[in-house]
Amino acid sequence: MAIATLLPATTAFIQRAPRMLIGAEWVEAADGQTMPLRNPATGEQLCVVPRATVDDVDRAVLAARQAFDDSPWSRTRPRERQNLLWKLADLMQRDAELLAQLECLNNGKSAAVAQVMDVQLAIDFLRYMAGWATKIEGSSVEVSVPLMPDQQFHSFIRREAVGVVGAIVAWNFPLLLACWKLGPALATGCTVVLKPADETPLTALKLAELVQEAGYPDGVLNVVTGTGITAGAALTHNPRVDKLTFTGSTAVGKEIGKIAMDSMTRVTLELGGKSPTIVMADADLGSAAAGAASAIFFNQGQVCCAGSRLYVQRKHFDKVVADIAGIANAMKLGSGLDASVDMGPLISARQQERVWRYIEMGRESGATIACGGEQFGPGYFVKPTVIVDVDQQHSLVQEEIFGPVLVAIPFDDEADALRMANDSPYGLGASIWSNDLAAVHRMIPRIKSGSVWVNCHSALDPALPFGGYKMSGVGREMGYAAIEHYTELKSVLIKL
Ligand code: NAD
Repeated sequence: MAIATLLPATTAFIQRAPRMLIGAEWVEAADGQTMPLRNPATGEQLCVVPRATVDDVDRAVLAARQAFDDSPWSRTRPRERQNLLWKLADLMQRDAELLAQLECLNNGKSAAVAQVMDVQLAIDFLRYMAGWATKIEGSSVEVSVPLMPDQQFHSFIRREAVGVVGAIVAWNFPLLLACWKLGPALATGCTVVLKPADETPLTALKLAELVQEAGYPDGVLNVVTGTGITAGAALTHNPRVDKLTFTGSTAVGKEIGKIAMDSMTRVTLELGGKSPTIVMADADLGSAAAGAASAIFFNQGQVCCAGSRLYVQRKHFDKVVADIAGIANAMKLGSGLDASVDMGPLISARQQERVWRYIEMGRESGATIACGGEQFGPGYFVKPTVIVDVDQQHSLVQEEIFGPVLVAIPFDDEADALRMANDSPYGLGASIWSNDLAAVHRMIPRIKSGSVWVNCHSALDPALPFGGYKMSGVGREMGYAAIEHYTELKSVLIKL
């Protein structure tokens, strides 16, 4: 068993009870309240962090407002923003192991995987966004202005930073999700108040230290730790915020969307998913089974675009399900500090209970548990589970479980597969496993989701926009689409 030794810097970071960053100051909550963080692998308390009050959030927004309106940051040139983002990425690279260990202790995920996935993807994304800082363009337009026929004009369109960004993120990829917000915000010249998830603020606080070390002016990034109901809501309602960007559940996202519409605050919402994995009869069945297993079990199934619904063409259904069950049964569960472990704990006792309720619901309704269907502790473990003999309309198929639970249903033909894949309130991702080029190209345009993968699943690239159709959200992260969401267009007409 290869248990990672914690770096002295990891232990020191946790032992000193990290505070939040507002403007230039590392502060406690105004009323001194704290909230405990737990290690999901043991259930034990890791440390406490401040529980931000409404006042704390308001001060953070004010700091961001001042930094945007009236500070050296508001006058930075694209090249400086590019270089600062590169510097931040370099510092994250230097501290990659520390960041991965914090993510492991706080979230439960594997430290080894977090280092090569979460942390490295975040670094790569910031470097990609650094490139956009120098490539944000407006355009000049030849205009006619019919009502003023005898005049001449010069006209152009500017793309301007949207302003103060309120960013609220979920706990499943704490650092990566924060960087998906921070990258385009800092590339375009915005300022940010980041509210990490209640359960997982540690890497956001470390990131804030690195932002300071990189040389960003005070107030460009502020991090408030606290609950969604107080700190998140305060950020959502603050009139000084120009744009809200949210990653989390559809239920909370809908509320935030409504509040944003009331004040016309710009808003992007990255929400839940129930993504289908479709295995066609001609697929390489070995790769499809391995791919489908990883699509649902990676990160303990706590992935917004996890392949949580499996549809297999009927003649191969039993074999593919048996192969996935075999992979699941061979998975070793344990602490994410153990590099030989395949699956860690869920984030919290609450999440464990939620996932367990779905498994019980399946059992009670007569579904068959093909593998898994067990939970254990200490820590918040649920075995990788595959459920068959469920109807397409069952809650297990229609609702996001957000855990290592796969529901599998056979289909007869392409039309049947498309009908069931699209029969979902969500539309975040979908994968098709097939080598029939014509069938794949027929299916891609008919799938209602923001991403379609062929012979792979959840493969992301900084250049590819990511986001959802339907209840999976509004707007896109990554790619140039993200730059568009962090900027406003201004049309300028000059009478000569
Ligand atoms: P959640 O909605 O409960 O919480 C997300 C964030 O919102 C947290 O920071 C929380 O503190 C905050 N929040 C909660 N209530 C709030 C309120 N009333 N006002 C303002 N903020 C509030 O979601 P979760 O359980 O942390 O995350 C899991 C969900 O996130 C899943 O549905 C998953 O699919 C989704 N997710 C989506 C993406 C994506 O890119 N589409 C990525 C990761 C996770």
